Amino acid sequence: MVSTPPVESPTSGLSYLPSNEGSTDTRSPNQELFPLTARVNDNDTLEIGGCDVTTLTRRFGTPLYILDEATLREACRQYRDAFQRYYDGDSLVLFASKAWSCLAVCAIVASEGLGTDVVSGGELYTALKAGVSPDRIYLHGNNKSRRELQRAIEAGITIVADNWNDLNILVSLSEHRPTPVRLMLRLTPGIECHTHEYIQTGHLDSKFGFDPDSLDAVLEFVSQHPSLSCIGLHAHIGSQIFELQPHCDLPKVMVSWWQRAKAYGLPVTELNVGGGLGIRYTEADDPPSIDEWVKTVCENVTAACREAGMPLPRLLCEPGRSLVGSACVTAYTIGAEKTVPGIRTYITVDGGMSDNPRPITYQSVYRTVVADRMSAPATETVTVAGKHCESGDVLVSNVRLPKTQAGDVLVVMGTGAYNYSMSSNYNRLPRPAAVLVGNGEANIVLQRETDADLLRQDRLPERLVSMEDR
Ligand SMILES: *Cc1c(COP(=O)(O)O)cnc(C)c1O
Repeated sequence: MVSTPPVESPTSGLSYLPSNEGSTDTRSPNQELFPLTARVNDNDTLEIGGCDVTTLTRRFGTPLYILDEATLREACRQYRDAFQRYYDGDSLVLFASKAWSCLAVCAIVASEGLGTDVVSGGELYTALKAGVSPDRIYLHGNNKSRRELQRAIEAGITIVADNWNDLNILVSLSEHRPTPVRLMLRLTPGIECHTHEYIQTGHLDSKFGFDPDSLDAVLEFVSQHPSLSCIGLHAHIGSQIFELQPHCDLPKVMVSWWQRAKAYGLPVTELNVGGGLGIRYTEADDPPSIDEWVKTVCENVTAACREAGMPLPRLLCEPGRSLVGSACVTAYTIGAEKTVPGIRTYITVDGGMSDNPRPITYQSVYRTVVADRMSAPATETVTVAGKHCESGDVLVSNVRLPKTQAGDVLVVMGTGAYNYSMSSNYNRLPRPAAVLVGNGEANIVLQRETDADLLRQDRLPERLVSMEDR
């Protein structure tokens, strides 16, 4: 393994905490390392949502996702309020639910007035069961099945067509229906950004969206099929983006597509500029605030429309990570420790790549603390490894931490996005529980999987049942 230099860090967990306690309304959750309600209590223990993290781990076990309701709601409100502040037209913020699709998260986000975007029949089912209104659900996906499109039409949601396959299936499913399908078209804008190549989507060599060269053919096709009502255009540039420039450039491109759609007589009124705003995982990250990002989008959409002589569209965006990422932490129990003399010390936690596959997939880095002794000085340089049978199952490399012992609670920050939703049962580890915390209360929102859950879909053919067991 390549060794990286130790992450520069303050001497204790205390100094990572949000600085100006009390004025939560001025801080952007995506710019904080900790959930907004995090504090250290009199036992020198991390507290989130008024709940002592070590008490939560004793009560609910580890690994444990701890979701701070106040932080999630604050991020929703900041998006919503910023559109009110900076945009004169109608707007709607959609939660990209692939970041964390479960009933509780979808319901909280919907209760803040946001819509939801889904990318599969399973995410659609979850959003509908969580009570999200169908007129606020948008279906994405670069290979939607006929069955998924059928369900989407029956539910009355909006479908974002990604390719010709979508359009052909939609025509065959919608031709004899009384009302047209509400359709958006996703195009690749040809805008690059600086993020991990696996999460770039806006460059032309991407599996997502129609190539802009095919725009006229697509618009012509849609205009000839009255069962398709093309009400909007969509683009998404990528994820974990810290630059504002791509969102200064995108509106011009999208408004030029819109002008062409108008020439074909399509009833386009909505533009969706996608998601992608990054969050602060470590001190090295410096993303713009939610407010700055929305301001940039609104100003540039307004300017592009004015220049092109177009009215203001209904403006949509669809953040995932910047809504839910900073609202959750994962608590683990520390177990085995191994020192390779002169090389490194591993400390091992009771989860890993099954509950957080981002480090092994995207080389992501995280901020960690020892939750049961927050003010202890960081005297050791260690690598935090998971318990999976994979040498790459490392959560954080070369991090400065206090001296730990088995039984300590290690907390990894910023695990709300793409952790639970990408989790697996690798090595047959049951998926962790998730608790929602706020005002000193904790409610289970995802039950910890049991051994029985692991066998739920297993079937043993009769001929494999051993003689003794018959
Ligand atoms: C993943 C994705 C998003 C959300 O991206 P974030 O980086 O989590 O904000 C939005 N729209 C589409 C189409 C996506 O694929």
